[in-house]
Amino acid sequence: MITNQTKTRALVVGAGFGGVAAALTLTKAKSSALEITLISNKPHFEYYPALYRVVTGRSPLEVCIPLSAIFHGSKIEVVIDEITTLDPGTQTAAGLSGRRYGYDYAILALGSETAYFDIPGLREFSFGFKSIQEASRLEKHLQALFKNCAGGETTQEDKVCLLHFVIVGAGPSGVELAGELAGYLKQLARHYRVAENLITIDLFEGAGRILPALPEAVARRASRRLRALGVNIFVNRPLVSEEAEKIMVRGLSAKTETVIWTAGIKPNSFFQKIPGLTFDQRGRVIVDEYLRAKNQERIFVIGDGAATPYTGLAQTAIYDGRAAAVNISRLARGLKPLAYQPKPPSHAIPIGRGWGLAVLGTVIISGRFGWLIRRAADLRYFLSILPVRKALLAFRPGKKICRDCPICGKIKIIKKEEKTI
Ligand SMILES: Cc1cc2nc3c(=O)[nH]c(=O)nc-3n(C[C@H](O)[C@H](O)[C@H](O)COP(=O)(O)OP(=O)(O)OC[C@H]3O[C@@H](n4cnc5c(N)ncnc54)[C@H](O)[C@@H]3O)c2cc1C
Repeated sequence: MITNQTKTRALVVGAGFGGVAAALTLTKAKSSALEITLISNKPHFEYYPALYRVVTGRSPLEVCIPLSAIFHGSKIEVVIDEITTLDPGTQTAAGLSGRRYGYDYAILALGSETAYFDIPGLREFSFGFKSIQEASRLEKHLQALFKNCAGGETTQEDKVCLLHFVIVGAGPSGVELAGELAGYLKQLARHYRVAENLITIDLFEGAGRILPALPEAVARRASRRLRALGVNIFVNRPLVSEEAEKIMVRGLSAKTETVIWTAGIKPNSFFQKIPGLTFDQRGRVIVDEYLRAKNQERIFVIGDGAATPYTGLAQTAIYDGRAAAVNISRLARGLKPLAYQPKPPSHAIPIGRGWGLAVLGTVIISGRFGWLIRRAADLRYFLSILPVRKALLAFRPGKKICRDCPICGKIKIIKKEEKTI
């Protein structure tokens, strides 16, 4: 209980979009009576909206910001640990390290994980697109395929199969990735002296059109752009099953060694292990009007894990994180929490280099200007979590893969002559 403490202990678990926003807001709170701890299972923050850059050969450092840079000089304890249990009864969480963390208020910002919906073969044979590690694995696979095709022994028929790339899921991340791959695969073809016309990129969507959550006019413009880039679009084609070198969607099958699954996410399964939480049909935690888990006055749930109207977006997670932090700061000062007002999102999707599609309310902006809006949104975000100089550094593309950092160190370094790709 808080009564025997001099300070109110605020525990934030997860340092993604929601957790970072919550922790930064808490550090700036008016109340000096807060003791803030942020626990993350990795030492850096991953900027998912730019993950496609890692797939297309850019350094993971372009999407990775050390937590030490974000929280340098802040009154917060940042702990690298993975939370394995959380007991609302004793108000304690425990980590893989064996350490226990007591709290008066907890913010759970655990994000989501890939959902495979029990589709046969999907987990085993597809490539995920949800972390730097997955993006790097895919990038290395693409390089290996082209290298293979460049070798003299590969038949024309084999090359057609090797250079058939399938993306399943035409939401914003599938569309973004398809657009970026279209340019990058041509670069690889030129580099490895493989005929460009052997490359096929198919984008499969189970719904009746691409970008099903966005207005139809947006989907039409995105389709036109993707087709101009050489991407084949198939709608009403839910995935049925996948084998090592073959994919089956409704009504057709195709030979391929590259299936990228972007069509399913579900809330972090850790939420299911917490006693006393209740869930909606999609496995998201039901929250009250203050973003607290239903019937759990000391646990706030934010971002992808919370059943709120616009969940599943970074901008919602950031908004939630700030709202939950403000409420904890108010509660610590003996004030009533503020009711949560869901905020409709805006969208800005890059589709191929220098081209973007921005949806601001009812206005749709496409082309170079749409792309600039997206870049401005990236910069604005970095400025919100970092001092100006560091934000500009994080924003600037063209970083080198380095052997010494914990991210790049785990990734096989591409040979010198390949670095230009
Ligand atoms: C490829 C891709 C592109 C996207 N593009 C956009 C976009 O352009 N615009 C947009 O609005 N949204 C986008 N999104 C969605 C957006 O990234 C998510 O909605 C957002 O990350 C959710 O924030 P979060 O804080 O809930 O979770 P996350 O940002 O995923 O953070 C969760 C954090 O918790 C940590 N964690 C998990 N379990 C534990 C544990 N047990 N102990 C300690 N730490 C733990 C994780 O490592 C992670 O750091 C994209 C997502 C992807 C995958």
